Amino acid sequence: MTEARIVWDPRFLAYDFGPQHPFTERSRGLAVELLRRLSEGASVSWEEQVDPLSREELERFHRREYIDLVERLSARGQGEPLDAGDTPSFPGCHEAAARMAGGTVAAARWAMGGAGRRAFQPGGGLHHAHPDRASGFCIYNDLALAIRYALDGPLHLARVAYLDIDAHHGDGVMYGFYDDGRLLDIDFHQDGRTIFPGTGAVGETGRGDGAGLKVNVPLPPGAGDEAFLPIFHRVVPELLRSYRPQLLVLQHGVDSHAGDALAGLQYTHRAYAEALRVVLELAHELGETPVLVTGGGGYTPENVTRTLARAGLRLFGCPPPSLDHPLPEGWRSEFRLQFGQEAPADFGDLAPVYRSPWTEHRTEKLIEELEEAMGRTFRAPRGAG
Ligand SMILES: [Zn+2]
Repeated sequence: MTEARIVWDPRFLAYDFGPQHPFTERSRGLAVELLRRLSEGASVSWEEQVDPLSREELERFHRREYIDLVERLSARGQGEPLDAGDTPSFPGCHEAAARMAGGTVAAARWAMGGAGRRAFQPGGGLHHAHPDRASGFCIYNDLALAIRYALDGPLHLARVAYLDIDAHHGDGVMYGFYDDGRLLDIDFHQDGRTIFPGTGAVGETGRGDGAGLKVNVPLPPGAGDEAFLPIFHRVVPELLRSYRPQLLVLQHGVDSHAGDALAGLQYTHRAYAEALRVVLELAHELGETPVLVTGGGGYTPENVTRTLARAGLRLFGCPPPSLDHPLPEGWRSEFRLQFGQEAPADFGDLAPVYRSPWTEHRTEKLIEELEEAMGRTFRAPRGAG
């Protein structure tokens, strides 16, 4: 029997860079509201009170001097830069970011408490933050903190797998564990030569104990399911089967969806559904491995709300809604109010904007590059032509 939990504290909404900033937890909050309405009767527990991580817990990943800086700017007010880019401070940013990380650690802790458990933290997924600096709208790296908790906390896991399908490379997590053999890191993203943060090339495969355990799959702008799915099916099951993780973490960023306001990949609901299906099936196959799923990037509210809600439904064991499933009227008016734009009427995908540059030939070429970099072979799955 699988058990599911969602961690969503309404105070996650305090992680707020201001109305002009593209990152907003409001779209995650509306995803949760949609999920709440559509999952009535599902067997899922809700954790809605989360404490911020303590300094000691934050120091599992972050440097003391950096936490001092965040605390100082958090007390001072709005708009001072926490990094060289687009991550400004705001009043209370330390507490808000520490609470978000607390949510992801709580979700991981619960998931590890029993076989077959699935935890969902849609507010988290802040994969760019580094030990000593903020980056890409991420102040504290909730994922890295949850992984550190799994490895160095009371359970002392020996092997965790991290899978990242956000449009941006999860650099904070990958470099944070680059020489750590206890983390298998698989990251699908838009090619770093075309988008922030610029990293995640095929040749970045880890170092020392981590050598061969960091796997990067960069895709060109415009690529969609036709690029993502064949490579995902080819490399992910094989890597997870040979690594046999004791915890599976999926960063389910949805800025890789077609129509995202900041990124150029063009996945549809199918890519996300398949990724999650494969992860859950492998978790079952590998002996009911616990699964933690977080949100991540996503800058088009129609995509963020519906894609995260669909992911939650699947985690809770509910049948996924059809594309023409009408969205509740009360929810739609809340969406209009929050975003000042028309709300989607159903689960239908936004249409691709660009023509995909992908061809089958490119799939084979990228697999060959991965095989060469990793020094291993990815066999075509049985039954595939
Ligand atoms: Zn992203």
